[in-house]
Amino acid sequence: MRDFTCSECGQRLVFENTLCLSCGSSLGFSLSDRNLLVLPKDPESGQRLRKCANQFVAQCNWMIPEDGPALCESCRLTRTRPADNDDKWLAAFGEAESAKRRLILELTELGLPLVGRDADPEFGLAFDLLSSAAEHVVTGHENGVITLDLAEGDVVHREQVRVELDEAYRTLLGHFRHEIGHYYFPVLVTAEDDLARFRDLFGDPYEDYQEALNRHYSEGKPPGWESAHVSAYATMHPAEDWAETFAHYLHIRDTLDTAAAFGFAPAGATLDRPQPGNAGFDRIIELWLPLAWALNMMNRSMGHRELYPFVLADRVLEKMRFIHELCATAQG
Ligand SMILES: [Zn+2]
Ligand SMILES: [Zn+2]
Ligand SMILES: [Zn+2]
Repeated sequence: MRDFTCSECGQRLVFENTLCLSCGSSLGFSLSDRNLLVLPKDPESGQRLRKCANQFVAQCNWMIPEDGPALCESCRLTRTRPADNDDKWLAAFGEAESAKRRLILELTELGLPLVGRDADPEFGLAFDLLSSAAEHVVTGHENGVITLDLAEGDVVHREQVRVELDEAYRTLLGHFRHEIGHYYFPVLVTAEDDLARFRDLFGDPYEDYQEALNRHYSEGKPPGWESAHVSAYATMHPAEDWAETFAHYLHIRDTLDTAAAFGFAPAGATLDRPQPGNAGFDRIIELWLPLAWALNMMNRSMGHRELYPFVLADRVLEKMRFIHELCATAQG
């Protein structure tokens, strides 16, 4: 994530700010500028902008050209959401949309294709953000549609599930990064030799899913899973292994980007800087490993759990290298 400052007074800002607490300027994020700008007319760019129509329901601070569509690039991707008067679930919806905006910015920074349902009604990307209180909702992905159970926005519920499932990490952003991995599988793995490499690294992506699910929940995690998988859940099915590894690729790239913005990693480590080929991936990992270790130790110093409680075995890095190559190619 980039480092932001107010263009009126120089105050430091965070991605979610809607107001500069120092000079009172109204702020919004512009995806095309990849920057927080001052409304209604940014003194730097001179363009006239307005807030996304979801500024209250989705806590959205993105803005769009005055003559453009009513919703921002991120909100437009949401197909289903709680009703405007559903006060109980709108807060959780806002939390989910906040995490989603971080996802959409990272994908844009990486130059990955984002095709919505309007352009591709069959496989385009859409989000259904639903409450499981009224109906049965399973977080997952199918043919471009990402479903998220808004109960995941409740911190007590989420922590309870995390402990029950013995997971090292569970966040809304993590859910989105995992599900978007499923979305990118058919988008990025199209060539025959890429599919062959997928099979070598992850296994058969079309293996029976229900069987794998039953096995995973009846037998539990296989011993020694850490030597080839980034998480225990990744052992469930090759498609889950790909999605988990993809999520970690996004964790690493974004966290490294933030580190670079604040001088803890070289400027060349930012998301918008292409890192082609094997050398590019080696460089990312060379920068990541000592950074993650230091961040983990800093979290421990504050009495928190480790920031990145994962081990990246060689086999996991090989899988991630493949994902990096596909993303770098898609970036062009
Ligand atoms: Zn200011
Ligand atoms: Zn919006
Ligand atoms: Zn999955």
